[in-house]
Amino acid sequence: MTDPSASWTIRHFSQANPAGEGQYDVPALLRRVADTLEELGPVDVQDVVFHQDLDGEGDERPSMTVYFHPTVTFDDVRNLFTPFFRDATETADVDFTVEDSGADEGGVYVLVNAADGTGDGFRFDRQGRGDDSAAFALECFDVLQETVHEVLARRGRSGPWPPCPTHGHTHKLTTAWQAESSSRAWWACPDGGPVVPIGELPAS
Ligand SMILES: [Zn+2]
Repeated sequence: MTDPSASWTIRHFSQANPAGEGQYDVPALLRRVADTLEELGPVDVQDVVFHQDLDGEGDERPSMTVYFHPTVTFDDVRNLFTPFFRDATETADVDFTVEDSGADEGGVYVLVNAADGTGDGFRFDRQGRGDDSAAFALECFDVLQETVHEVLARRGRSGPWPPCPTHGHTHKLTTAWQAESSSRAWWACPDGGPVVPIGELPAS
């Protein structure tokens, strides 16, 4: 089983009290660590380790190491959507914009608008980063693919979008996550596998 956490780097910081009076003060150290965490902004703490290391005087000096990763932000979500938007613009002439609808403990909320006013709201799990949020982006793309169809239908255009380029296929491409090859989302033929990375559909 693939560990989704392997796709992003866990960061860490180590902290001790300044040398001198009070350097052994564990409550003070805990407060320093709390302050540092608050300064980091939205992060998901994975682990906190307490150490007692011998200093040059032979005394134990406490320190703490905190392992964390940043949580999903609106910019992360926009970056995931951008290649899809490019394909919609270049191959279907449907322009999308993504709006920041705020964030709370539960997630990052975004509203995706098509140029004709159709809007779809999505919530990204704040803790889901890397492959987790990319997998959820695929679910969003399924919804947005329907939106493209609706917009095209209102313009009097029917048919699959994007059409499968494989000879004899008249269905639409679906989206798939190709973690093993390139950690990217691809357009794929349901019968024939990956066709082209999302964001690189040939302009029509
Ligand atoms: Zn096909």
